[in-house]
Amino acid sequence: MPRLSEMDVSVPCPKCRHPTRIKARDVRPGLPVECDACGASFALTEEDLERLQKGLDDLTQTTRKFGGRSA
Ligand SMILES: [Zn+2]
Repeated sequence: MPRLSEMDVSVPCPKCRHPTRIKARDVRPGLPVECDACGASFALTEEDLERLQKGLDDLTQTTRKFGGRSA
């Protein structure tokens, strides 16, 4: 089972909607993010955090369901 802290998550850039990848372990309110498409700087919002957390929860459940035997 992969460690969540070593996974990447993506947040949509508020300017160009490009999904910008960040480390799951770096996710926290106000984290400064730089879009790798348009170069815009923005900070993670509570809304982003909630959505990311939900995604990680879903991922964890999926991993449990399908990855039980794998290393
Ligand atoms: Zn952008």
